[in-house]
Amino acid sequence: MIWYPYEQMKTMKTPYKIIDAQGVWLETEDGKMIDSVSSWWSVIHGYKHPVLNEAIKSQVENFAHVMLGGLTHEPVRKLSEKLQSFLPGDLDYCFFSDSGSVAVEVGLKMALQYFVNRGELERTKVLSLTHAYHGDTFKTMEVGDDEDYHFILEAYGEKKDVIHIPTEIPALEEAFEKYHRELNCFIVEPLLQGAGGMRMYDIAFLQRARELCDQYGVLLIFDEVATGFGRTGNRFVADLVLPDILVLGKALTGGYIGHAVTVANHKVYEGFYGDDPNKALMHGPTFMGNALACSVALASIELFEKEDYMSKIHRIEEITRREMEGFADPRIKEVRMMGGCVCVEVYDSDTLKGYQQFAYERGVFSRPFLKYLYAMVPYIISEEELMKVLRTMKEWFFVN
Ligand SMILES: *Cc1c(COP(=O)(O)O)cnc(C)c1O
Repeated sequence: MIWYPYEQMKTMKTPYKIIDAQGVWLETEDGKMIDSVSSWWSVIHGYKHPVLNEAIKSQVENFAHVMLGGLTHEPVRKLSEKLQSFLPGDLDYCFFSDSGSVAVEVGLKMALQYFVNRGELERTKVLSLTHAYHGDTFKTMEVGDDEDYHFILEAYGEKKDVIHIPTEIPALEEAFEKYHRELNCFIVEPLLQGAGGMRMYDIAFLQRARELCDQYGVLLIFDEVATGFGRTGNRFVADLVLPDILVLGKALTGGYIGHAVTVANHKVYEGFYGDDPNKALMHGPTFMGNALACSVALASIELFEKEDYMSKIHRIEEITRREMEGFADPRIKEVRMMGGCVCVEVYDSDTLKGYQQFAYERGVFSRPFLKYLYAMVPYIISEEELMKVLRTMKEWFFVN
């Protein structure tokens, strides 16, 4: 039987069974609903997109997968070249993997080994943010600060190699002052912390982080697994402040196949490059550079450019602001918006109990967690469809 994610299997409610999907719509046996979650924020072009479907179909006629150990192929070459030109600065070196968590692990390993390769063995610590989420594997749990994982990490005692700070400049300066000799990297979800509660913060924090990383020779990692490809209203936050390592996942393949990439800049790449085999990056997921994933990712990025997705995202933000700004209720702590993300934070998680079924009955799929009711819609959503999502969120507070 299926063991579902993040669920107490004994008490979980039966999941909705999807039999077809098209555009923003998920079809169940007895109706259809708009996916306001974009299948965990990944399906940016909607379902059954003809261009993406075609990219996979034509590649599968050649081969679905070959390993990158000793072999290579056109889809992975083309995608790497595309990313190199699409991404800002000298973020040019693409290391592929099969999920966001693994890609973050690779980024953290790169940062640590970069300094080991230089003989700077004291740089064992990672600086990260409170409420951070970087994935479900062990090192990403440690670097993250997700309440759900605290019980696991407590079993191991205090984390000695990770320092968490809030998104405040004084705390940032203090941490660098105190730990800069021991830090190999500072990892952040830039501007928007997703699974930690859709928390939004200012670009000034990241600008100061870049300065401090430069001053003390610490690597800056942007985990843009969630924020990449337009979600914050910027193509990438890396367009505003340039990190040394950038991690992309989720929307990379338009939500078609799990794939992710860790992109290093020239400086990081140089830290591994040379004649010494011990200085090579020791990582290699079996399915890295999967040909179907690379083909669909390339098609996804081409669509994103050709159909001017940034203007679609700005339109989503405009409509969302028009509908949600100033929306208030005694049970609501804050309504936050940024690009293609809106979040209603309530004081008490009980306020959101029953929302999923309420939304389902109105033709919207939603998955609130803890105190957060949010939407991250596919970018191809029409105004009418988006209004349905937002009105359903507001209606919940009117009728309850
Ligand atoms: C979802 C997410 C991850 C993990 O990606 P998976 O593909 O689920 O392993 C890592 N970082 C951030 C910011 C994410 O939102």
